[in-house]
Amino acid sequence: MVKIGFYLKAECENLIELEPSEASIYIWNFKFKCNRCHETTDKFVGVDPQLVSEKSGSKGEANLIMKCKFCSREGSVSLIGPVTAFSPTAKNDGYQLMVTLDCQNWEPVDFDPQGEWVGKSEDESTKFEDIELGEDEWMDVDNNDVPATVGNLSYRFLKITK
Ligand SMILES: [Zn+2]
Repeated sequence: MVKIGFYLKAECENLIELEPSEASIYIWNFKFKCNRCHETTDKFVGVDPQLVSEKSGSKGEANLIMKCKFCSREGSVSLIGPVTAFSPTAKNDGYQLMVTLDCQNWEPVDFDPQGEWVGKSEDESTKFEDIELGEDEWMDVDNNDVPATVGNLSYRFLKITK
């Protein structure tokens, strides 16, 4: 098993604590690369925290169990650790860890931020309930008519070693 952190970077204006609206049911959509044949899934595959399946051969459980279409090797992915809200600050405007994956044979290589995200205005007076990150840029105004935006999303996957 390899622990891989999913890191998000985004340009936000007047927006803090960006996170999936309900982390306990949020389905994370990744493309995965097979560690054996190095082919990548052609579609995004959802990792559902509520879904737990048995690996073949009683090797434990995982949120996603999938065979490689190219070399037939079975691998698994599980969401572990908490989901952390993304909060760009002056001190940290780079990539931030969102969630950690426990991976066997599969390695995430891309992300699709579909689904509902939430966030707060910088003064925390306004909670944005239905942020959609699938578009190039999301935009709204807070209760004081100050614009809030998210754009330029990028992703990084780093092995976590300890
Ligand atoms: Zn393969």
